[in-house]
Amino acid sequence: MSKTVLFWFRNDLRINDNPGINFSSKKGLVFPIYIHDEKSKIGSASKLWLHNSLLSLDKSLNNNLNFFIGNSLDIILSLCEKYNIQNVVWNKSFEPKSIEIDSKIESALGKKNVAVDKFNASLLWEPESILKGDGTPYKVFTPFYRKGCLLFSSEPRKPVKITKHLDIFTPDQRNSINTLGLSDGKKWNGELIKHWDIGEVNATNKLEKFIKNGLSGYKKKRDFPAGQNNSMLSPHIHFGEISVNQIWHEIKKYPEDKDSDHFLSEVGWREFSYYLLYHFRNLPEDNFQKKFDKFPWKYDEKLYDLWKKGLTGFPIIDAGMRQLWETGYIHNRVRMIVASFLVKNLQIHWHYGRDWFWECLVDADLASNSASWQWVAGSGADAAPYFRIFNPVLQSKKFDPNGEYIRKYVPELSKTEAKFIHSPWEKENNEYIEPIIDLKSSREKALLFYNQISKS
Ligand SMILES: Cc1cc2nc3c(=O)[nH]c(=O)nc-3n(C[C@H](O)[C@H](O)[C@H](O)COP(=O)(O)OP(=O)(O)OC[C@H]3O[C@@H](n4cnc5c(N)ncnc54)[C@H](O)[C@@H]3O)c2cc1C
Repeated sequence: MSKTVLFWFRNDLRINDNPGINFSSKKGLVFPIYIHDEKSKIGSASKLWLHNSLLSLDKSLNNNLNFFIGNSLDIILSLCEKYNIQNVVWNKSFEPKSIEIDSKIESALGKKNVAVDKFNASLLWEPESILKGDGTPYKVFTPFYRKGCLLFSSEPRKPVKITKHLDIFTPDQRNSINTLGLSDGKKWNGELIKHWDIGEVNATNKLEKFIKNGLSGYKKKRDFPAGQNNSMLSPHIHFGEISVNQIWHEIKKYPEDKDSDHFLSEVGWREFSYYLLYHFRNLPEDNFQKKFDKFPWKYDEKLYDLWKKGLTGFPIIDAGMRQLWETGYIHNRVRMIVASFLVKNLQIHWHYGRDWFWECLVDADLASNSASWQWVAGSGADAAPYFRIFNPVLQSKKFDPNGEYIRKYVPELSKTEAKFIHSPWEKENNEYIEPIIDLKSSREKALLFYNQISKS
């Protein structure tokens, strides 16, 4: 009888360039499982994505993916015992809690003489392998990426193709995906997910489409939210429907003047976020720069709620927050503008912004979300300087000059002339919501607070 290998899917929901699956396929029958840990704090939009992504993966496995809900350690141990499994394989997660859980599972399996094989399927470079000359981790993006990754490390591995046909082990019974309860949330009634084509095949198609239509010109045009020069691959990357290695090697086929290097450096920011999370495990909670512990944050529920609903009176902010609610995504430039507004103009702690993004983003990612919120707040590693307070009106004029993006998400302004679309309150008989805050005085107050903590 052929040996059975238990393969545990996590954020690697694909068959291609999946080193763990590739390894398992050579060892014997593959028993593919997915475990949803109820204690994992996954946001509502991500749950919807995950549900659909698992459906797609299950289909590519001819409906042979086995779903479990509960504690990963208990489930894996009991499956090994029940089916006499001697080898468990998974792709590593680089999030602090998962690292802890993995090591507990590995040691429990070791005690039962079950072999464990782990692979890296989600990062171009493993965080522990990149350190400065003095043995400490980098804290600044450019030297991390240009020196640590590009200069001193080997090129990211080439994508692996499944070398052998996948022979699947089928257990006596199989739980339905519905036991995971991922699509129960009534929040969007499935509307949000209609904006996306989910799954491995769609992710690869999206990369191809981006290379054809968006890569050339990415450097200049990526900041324009109404444009077509962003890949929108982030949720596919987060759930592992496409590997960063596949992206890297596809993009590398194009010369620098096609903006390939610039695009890859943005993927490099994702690497940096994971790197920071790996080396500074409290990044999702604690200010990276301790002086920010003294910042006198305010919490105003009403203002927070208006920000969440996209009812601030500032069209670019409202468009961004409504794009988030409607589609589970915000354009990167607009993420920076809405985040700066929350933490600097409203002086609401970045934790509140982090939490709302976590709930609503389909690409909600512990590393990128934590690092990016800290970057905007100024408290992060290599963060935006505290005095860089985005002016939503100027940003809007610069990056959405004709108000195309605003009109799409704020229908009340669809007929407003371009000269008033960024600041409708300047119009006589303004019918749009009045701004909830004065930009100038809130900016000055933030600067004052920032100056105080900088001196202390
Ligand atoms: C406040 C805030 C919160 C954010 N939260 C998240 C999050 O939860 N999940 C997430 O994936 N990204 C997050 N980002 C980063 C960035 O906005 C998104 O990755 C990007 O907008 C995704 O769109 P795209 O795929 O079209 O990006 P593209 O411009 O096409 O970039 C390609 C890929 O590079 C990576 N990337 C690009 N920019 C960044 C960046 N600044 N930081 C990290 N990775 C990047 C992403 O994986 C992205 O898919 C956040 C940014 C801000 C300012």
